Amino acid sequence: MDSDPREELLALIGSLRSHILYHRGLGVEALPRSEQFSQTLAAVREELGECRRCRLSKGRKNIVFGEGNERARLLFVGEAPGYEEDIQGRPFVGKAGQLLTRIISAIGMTRHEVYITNVVKCHPPQNRVPEPDEIACCYPFLAKQLKTIRPKIICALGKAATQTLLDTDAGITTIRGTFHTWERIPVMPTFHPAYLLRNPERKRETWQDMQAIQRELAKVS
Ligand code: URA
Repeated sequence: MDSDPREELLALIGSLRSHILYHRGLGVEALPRSEQFSQTLAAVREELGECRRCRLSKGRKNIVFGEGNERARLLFVGEAPGYEEDIQGRPFVGKAGQLLTRIISAIGMTRHEVYITNVVKCHPPQNRVPEPDEIACCYPFLAKQLKTIRPKIICALGKAATQTLLDTDAGITTIRGTFHTWERIPVMPTFHPAYLLRNPERKRETWQDMQAIQRELAKVS
């Protein structure tokens, strides 16, 4: 027999009510707020607006905010949008992006399941590395994206993402391969796909890092 959705909803509300009353009986008056961050990605994007907070805004065609699943369990942070990303307004859509897409499918996931963003949201001229003050301008928005999504794992792609998230000067070669944390979220630093295109012999280590991510994801609910 088909269950009545109204009955199911009433039962759910009833059990939620008893749960709250039980905790109230134990003297609990409020739930801790520390884990709560009730913004949406749309609100973060709106707050970013047509950003002119740093000089990178002068040369950009499009802000590349990020894309993917708002409830992603795995989130990738790259460095900065490249030429192609600037034109399309989407992260990792050029050559390095195609490799990232293959890396994601190698662990049995799709771009729709994960979330992909960058440390800075505007394309730096001549693809130069973003300056510390440009990273500092963009960081509050990256932090809000991470807090909104609260993925189970963050994968930091390359030096800029790793050093920004982990507040370290360590090089990617020494720090990759083990989990660190950002606001208690595990962070796996690994090589940037653009670096892998120039140094394909490093793909084996990246594969090890991705397998570590896959194992960790299997452990956490
Ligand atoms: N490299 C990055 O770091 N990010 C992109 O979005 C594309 C290339």
